[in-house]
Amino acid sequence: MIESLNRVEISRPALRHNMQLLRRMARKAGVMAMVKADGYGHGMLECARVFAGAGAAAFGVAEVVEGVTLRQAGISQPVFVLAGLLPELVPPLFDFDLTPVLVDDTLLPSLSREATRKGRSIDVHLKVDAGMGRQGCTLDQAPLVIRRIMDTPGVQLKGILAHFPMADDRDSPSTMEVLTGFTALVESLGDQLPDGLCLHIANSGGLLYFAGTRFDMVRPGISLYGCYPDGLTGRELAVGERLQPAMRFVSRVIQVKDVPAGSGLGYGHIYTTGRQTRLALLPVGYEDGYLRILSNRAEVLVHGCRAPVVGRISMNLTMVDVTDLQEVRPGDEVVLLGRQGAEEISCDEIAAWMGTINYEVLCLFGNLNRRVYM
Ligand code: PLP
Repeated sequence: MIESLNRVEISRPALRHNMQLLRRMARKAGVMAMVKADGYGHGMLECARVFAGAGAAAFGVAEVVEGVTLRQAGISQPVFVLAGLLPELVPPLFDFDLTPVLVDDTLLPSLSREATRKGRSIDVHLKVDAGMGRQGCTLDQAPLVIRRIMDTPGVQLKGILAHFPMADDRDSPSTMEVLTGFTALVESLGDQLPDGLCLHIANSGGLLYFAGTRFDMVRPGISLYGCYPDGLTGRELAVGERLQPAMRFVSRVIQVKDVPAGSGLGYGHIYTTGRQTRLALLPVGYEDGYLRILSNRAEVLVHGCRAPVVGRISMNLTMVDVTDLQEVRPGDEVVLLGRQGAEEISCDEIAAWMGTINYEVLCLFGNLNRRVYM
């Protein structure tokens, strides 16, 4: 089979390392591995298998279809569907033993009807908005919604969760405020809640940076893939270890050519050579998530050295100035993201060039390219 010259390499050992490290940080709390967005670009199924082998207690996805895919691949841990629920998706929740995260009471009639039809109940968790300002019932609405869930035949309330809007910022008071609101709600309901309820709130930021947010389960996403929610690549964590980035983005040189000083390069001639220049052309472009905004801005690694991207990145071509490098040849490997020799281009560096966050870079590169597992 002939394959693209571009590939995204995913390191299973790095994924395993991150899962084991986060499990240690979670202590007694179970780890719900967030594998939505095709495992943040790393491949949902492959990641889920690694995480399951390394002790994931559960998986988190956005939509029902992702949960079905996990089940069909033999994943047996609880799978939580955190968004994307509509009444028409209730039957597959039962058929594939998926746990819906409710945000209000609108799905209760459909769930109850299906429970009667199937002759068995379904477990649900309720998401409250304790300060995120996005999804979930407000803290004021929560007692009534909880009562309605508990009064609905065939529906079992098994957990309550919230989500942090700013846990990537250690200095923001927001996280402790959300935590306080969430805790106050649970305490105020006290004996009215079912026994053994599973409480969870911590995303990566909560788990890594805020003690006291672990409760019964944590829900890391970005950190499982080796990135830090605040973009501080490679920082040592409280446990004295570092996360390991799991993704590399690799291309190949397809042509090397010399152009004289004063040459305008590519679309729009947004770069003009200031000297006799040796260019390496790569068969990668915005189609592959290597966005135009990286034009004249990004660097890549060739022979373990940094080389600047020059001129406009186009759909399938990128030019790199390799004048200062030794003997670059067609076929040579070029690293756009990750390590080559002693040098590394981090996801956070690329995110800064793009004016975005590491999450978006991983999804772009990972979900638009051929993935290879190491
Ligand atoms: N929990 C919920 C509800 C989420 O929506 C997400 C991701 O967006 C996470 C946990 C994981 O967050 P992170 O990737 O920052 O760890």
